[in-house]
Amino acid sequence: MNLFPVYPLFDIEPIQARGSYVYGKDGQQYLDLYGGHAVISIGHCHEHQVDLLKQQLDKIMFYSNSVVNSMQEDLAVQLKRLSDYPEHSLFLCNSGAEANDHALKLAAFHTGRSKILAFNKAFHGRTGTTLPVTSNPKISSPLNSREHVAHIDLNDAVALEEALKTEEFAAVIIEPIQGVAGLYMPTNEFLVKLRALCDEYGTVLIMDEVQSGFGRSGKFFAHQYAGIEADIIPMAKGMGNGFPIGGLLISPKIEAWYGMLGTTFGGNHLACAACKAVLDVIEEEDLLKNATEVGEYAKSLFLEVPGVQEVRGEGLMLGMVFDFPIAEMRKRLVFEEFVFTGSSADPNTIRILPPLNISKEQILTFVNKLKNVLPVK
Ligand code: PLP
Repeated sequence: MNLFPVYPLFDIEPIQARGSYVYGKDGQQYLDLYGGHAVISIGHCHEHQVDLLKQQLDKIMFYSNSVVNSMQEDLAVQLKRLSDYPEHSLFLCNSGAEANDHALKLAAFHTGRSKILAFNKAFHGRTGTTLPVTSNPKISSPLNSREHVAHIDLNDAVALEEALKTEEFAAVIIEPIQGVAGLYMPTNEFLVKLRALCDEYGTVLIMDEVQSGFGRSGKFFAHQYAGIEADIIPMAKGMGNGFPIGGLLISPKIEAWYGMLGTTFGGNHLACAACKAVLDVIEEEDLLKNATEVGEYAKSLFLEVPGVQEVRGEGLMLGMVFDFPIAEMRKRLVFEEFVFTGSSADPNTIRILPPLNISKEQILTFVNKLKNVLPVK
């Protein structure tokens, strides 16, 4: 065995991709409603991103973070403006779990507390400190102690207040849309209450936007539907449109000192170029508007598909909840209709995470193809 087994693989090897399409070795075209797991934000191999990356390759790819890199500064200015977080500062790293790791550590430093409150069904990553807050003990190991972590149900305001009033919790970590779980969402009222309780009891609010951020929900960050601000916002997937990059937006109220955070590769020149291209395209192509409009259209079509009980999520982060398990249908979508979709921890839910510039016509094509593989009842 050359490769350590990680996921059960579909026997398809994409070798090329453009926009919302991926091409296999045999030239077969696949419509990508999965976005490589919410990663493809501005479409595969967007011309502007390819240009910026090629130009950067010819200049400099990397130098250590111990010297000035003005690309990071420029990126921070652009990101803070587009995300409407003008006062927060940016730290760049390499992945979603790493961003959450840093966020949890910052909260512990800031408060001097070590307990973390998280939510049932949550997914925050597979690293040392993110595994315990992820609500799945099966993927944790004896090294990832859960002693300092408590999990409560989403939208349980009573349990939330009971926990926070102990003043033992450094942070609450929450996904504004629980992607891996199957698109479960806190209500806006719950998020407003969460913000107020964190302020009252001196707890840091970490909003995990790794999957839902960078316009996927139709707002720059999904928690902005509730009209609240978070103290720390970990980000990753859509940030690089396939180039590995993660980051945190951090409130000025969080104490900082040199040496608290560090990284070798985070914020390297190529990653900055990749992310700048994403922000340029989100703005120039008005992708928040497209994600909102196409998302609304998709929701209305999905609700008419036989067997669909409910559509959860926002923008282009949607879950089609069927009244039967979707595994077989999802496989047929790939091999008979040439469409990629996502699964989730909920066996009845198909996850839809396409590029943010997908068109209404492409959504309609998907729905027609889906109808061809619905199980006959
Ligand atoms: N947080 C959320 C909400 C995620 O969905 C994921 C990955 O699916 C992660 C964190 C972990 O990100 P990564 O796989 O980049 O470490």
